[in-house]
Amino acid sequence: MRNESIFNESQKYMPGGVNSPVRAFRGLNINPPVFKSGKGQYIYDEDGKRYIDYVGAWGPMILGHCDEDVVKAIEETSRNAIAFGAPTELELNLAKLICETTDIDMIRFVNSGTEATMSAVKLARGFTGKNKIIKFSGCYHGHYDGFLVSAGSGVMTHSIPGSAGIPVDSVKNTLIADYNDIESVRKLFEEYGDDIAAVLIEPIAGNMGVVPAKKDFLEELRVLCTNYESLLIFDEVMTGFRVAYKGAREIYGIEPDLVTYGKIIGGGLPCGAYGGKREIMEYLSPIGPVYQAGTMSGNPIVMAAGLATLNKIYENKDVFYTKLEGLGKTLESKMMEAANKRGINITINRCGSMLTAFFTDRKVENYHDAKQCDVNLYSKFAENMILNGHYVSPSQFEALFLSIRHREEDIEEFIETIEKIF
Ligand code: PMP
Repeated sequence: MRNESIFNESQKYMPGGVNSPVRAFRGLNINPPVFKSGKGQYIYDEDGKRYIDYVGAWGPMILGHCDEDVVKAIEETSRNAIAFGAPTELELNLAKLICETTDIDMIRFVNSGTEATMSAVKLARGFTGKNKIIKFSGCYHGHYDGFLVSAGSGVMTHSIPGSAGIPVDSVKNTLIADYNDIESVRKLFEEYGDDIAAVLIEPIAGNMGVVPAKKDFLEELRVLCTNYESLLIFDEVMTGFRVAYKGAREIYGIEPDLVTYGKIIGGGLPCGAYGGKREIMEYLSPIGPVYQAGTMSGNPIVMAAGLATLNKIYENKDVFYTKLEGLGKTLESKMMEAANKRGINITINRCGSMLTAFFTDRKVENYHDAKQCDVNLYSKFAENMILNGHYVSPSQFEALFLSIRHREEDIEEFIETIEKIF
């Protein structure tokens, strides 16, 4: 059993055997498979077992694994250009494509979603001259100290760090509000309004499971930010190019001041970006006073993989997102049907090709609701799906992702397994 022996040895050399915590399958009674290859909607572990993949590297693999155009772009670019730490036409092409097709003025590339949100917040602080930010409980924006905050129940303004190693001082400027609850935001603005640099939000949350914001909530957020001269930052690291080409912005028709991207824009290679209005972006060094840099930022191979991915999506975007919506809808309705048949309570929140099945009979509209669900039942569900060759997230506080390579037959197989395990 190569899976077992590789994972066991990995634990000697890497904490928990992984390089990012959820991968370790804590809370499940199985070890994570160790993957060797992927093609289309399939991934294969070291023991040669095939899985239909519903994680998609946590979002980036919207074209499926090892898409031929992405592989070709990586191969061809790497023959001539691996890294310069200097300007290239590839980065211009990707910047131009994203700016022109998603209606932002300027963009800066970084190497992860964490870097993107962390830098966007620094830029917001530099631009506004204010210190505090509002984030929402249950939203994840990366592992930057200032974002790893959990609010004690009812103690919205007394932020406590949600990880060891974070000085209380690092989170004192992070205010926590409740998702989909505009009054909790209004109160913070009333108290701290003259010092709030930005409101940072996943406009469709994916990190407490999928929880879409209500439209009027986002509209009111937009108004509050404008009135208090704070920036509205949409974290679209997960939703950008996923829920619609222009992400949640397109779905809600609401314009933030800054937007962050990651995942899909790098075609599966490490990438992040933040962008927005010119007058704000020009606050960045070397033309402005806000310093942010990166040796690997705009790496040619990453840019080439991102370009191949976004070009392929953009060329045929209406057909592309219609197909994903159709697949998502089928999966949602058949899962619901299977649960109803077996008398199991589930609530499914879905936005296009990302969804979460919560084991509850209630609506899930914020972090509190998500935490009330039967997470142990979710763990059992995940364990059994994975054992049966359907690779789903090991945690309920994540999304399930479809790719353009999934077929109706894959979903049927998925449902057959669900019926069996329910
Ligand atoms: N923002 C959101 C909305 C995310 O989903 C994630 C990662 N899942 C991040 C930021 C952080 O991105 P990364 O893991 O690339 O640092």
